[in-house]
Amino acid sequence: MDICPSCGAELTGRTLQESSPAEPPEVGRRTRRELRRCGSCRHLAWRAEGARHASQPWSDGGVDPDYDSLFDFTLEPLPAPWFLVPAHPGRATLEAELRAEVSEGHPLHGKPVIAVARCERCDEVLFSVEEDPVRFVRVHLTWKQGPDTPPWPMTEPVPLPLYKGLTEHTHEHS
Ligand SMILES: [Zn+2]
Ligand SMILES: [Zn+2]
Repeated sequence: MDICPSCGAELTGRTLQESSPAEPPEVGRRTRRELRRCGSCRHLAWRAEGARHASQPWSDGGVDPDYDSLFDFTLEPLPAPWFLVPAHPGRATLEAELRAEVSEGHPLHGKPVIAVARCERCDEVLFSVEEDPVRFVRVHLTWKQGPDTPPWPMTEPVPLPLYKGLTEHTHEHS
């Protein structure tokens, strides 16, 4: 269980990966942090990326309103035929399939993602990429259940606002 270092409440909600685009990838990887916000005391909590596997505790990051927009974000209604992916079942399957398909060199390789929505017509999936700043991509999963060759699975950025970005999507794969 992840515990808030400030007040002892359980940390729930999204985990962001904080990265600096100015840093070369090999440096960034070493210094990247995971960031969460406590729902009770609103303090930020952070730890080095990968600490999850070592079950290391979170460090108190204090209160920083600059980060609130990243955590307070709520999803606006989506245009048909997009529908939100339910947490159970659905999300985990799509996220696992994406992780299985992207190989080194793919823009989503090693990125923390959440499966948000799915297009009923062409079966593309909308993922949020849990980085600072959060961004959204459409992915046409190949369902090979194994690694594909970049640029597959085909991935397109979805410009914000999401409603507009998804309305302009043309289902070109169907
Ligand atoms: Zn707290
Ligand atoms: Zn579509």
